[in-house]
Amino acid sequence: MEARAQFILETLAVIYPNISIPLGHTSPFSLLVAVILSAQCTDERVNKVTPLLFSEAPDLPSMMQLPIETIENIIHPCGLFRSKARSIKGCAQIITESYNGKVPETFEELEKLPGVGHKTASVIISQCFNGYAFPVDTHIRRLANRWGLAHSQNVSIVENNLKQLFPKEEWHDLHIRMIKFGREYCPARNHQITNCPICKNINH
Ligand code: SF4
Repeated sequence: MEARAQFILETLAVIYPNISIPLGHTSPFSLLVAVILSAQCTDERVNKVTPLLFSEAPDLPSMMQLPIETIENIIHPCGLFRSKARSIKGCAQIITESYNGKVPETFEELEKLPGVGHKTASVIISQCFNGYAFPVDTHIRRLANRWGLAHSQNVSIVENNLKQLFPKEEWHDLHIRMIKFGREYCPARNHQITNCPICKNINH
């Protein structure tokens, strides 16, 4: 592995020895719902809303039957509530009817579900099915560019760059650590290189 990538990997592992995904969930489906809700919404808010939603509809068939207006009312605080409600209900229906109530495990199948793009599919595959995936969100894209690991604003290109730089066994923990670091240290606009445990040690 390139020295810079190795340094970043090791430094992040020291800063964040414990890995936990910030979105609360109890099953692949509840994580899928949480990831759908997290678009343009904080994890804290999602974590307040998902227990309310799952207390109304604890399993896939009940989520499928829950009136769309009820879903909209519960998830309203997460924003984009109409399209997110359609996605949640649509996913519940398709997974119940076409996948025997089990969230599918391939990119191809996941990305056909309503409201599920490549990043959401990557989160599910990485987190629930121990598959190799590198979900790239806005924090990871910014950091990858600032650290010289990628030179593109296109998330697919950034994802491919990161996958080539790091061994696939590292992808899961690394992506969570990068998100944590991005939130904690690396704001979109200003940043202090001298205070930053990574940038002060690499050529910026
Ligand atoms: S110096 Fe700034 S850009 Fe570099 S990682 Fe730290 S916060 Fe981010």
